[in-house]
Amino acid sequence: MPARPERAFVGVGANLGDAQATVRAALQALRGLPQTQWVAGSSLYRSRPVDAVGPDYINAVAELRTALAPHPLLQRLQDIEQAFGRVRSVRNAPRTLDLDLLLYGDRVLHDDTLTLPHPRLHLRAFVLQPLAEIDPRLVLPGHGGLAPWLARAADQGIERIGAA
Ligand code: AMP
Repeated sequence: MPARPERAFVGVGANLGDAQATVRAALQALRGLPQTQWVAGSSLYRSRPVDAVGPDYINAVAELRTALAPHPLLQRLQDIEQAFGRVRSVRNAPRTLDLDLLLYGDRVLHDDTLTLPHPRLHLRAFVLQPLAEIDPRLVLPGHGGLAPWLARAADQGIERIGAA
């Protein structure tokens, strides 16, 4: 367990069934994580699938303060995904629920199960925009501030649909 709690951001996405209800329920599940405090949640957003086919995604981001270390936190996120019945098939397949550990403090790491920051975070409007809503001054380790990445991702077609 880390000596002190860290600031972590989790991306939530769903595009099967009642995706809005799934994202709201996933945000509730994040509120229930052990050794973890809820700090803030973004609005809900709608985005078109990136590099994939299928229905639009519903996305949101949560900011947590957690004493869980990164790998145990990822395991908890995967437990929640499983509980929501996600079937892992091919990358970017339609999914009931996808939880990504976007940022864990300013930690940079890469191993078989976890890459931090999340490797595609800086390229995807559907995480950049909700992150900017929570903290526009956020700095991505290795990538700098959000604004230039948001500008580059501006053509991705993401729409705010309301409070979570
Ligand atoms: P995907 O199917 O694209 O959601 O990828 C899930 C896989 O990515 C899992 O096997 C995770 O171990 C791995 N992974 C690596 N880094 C991360 C991260 N920061 N957040 C979530 N999953 C990650």
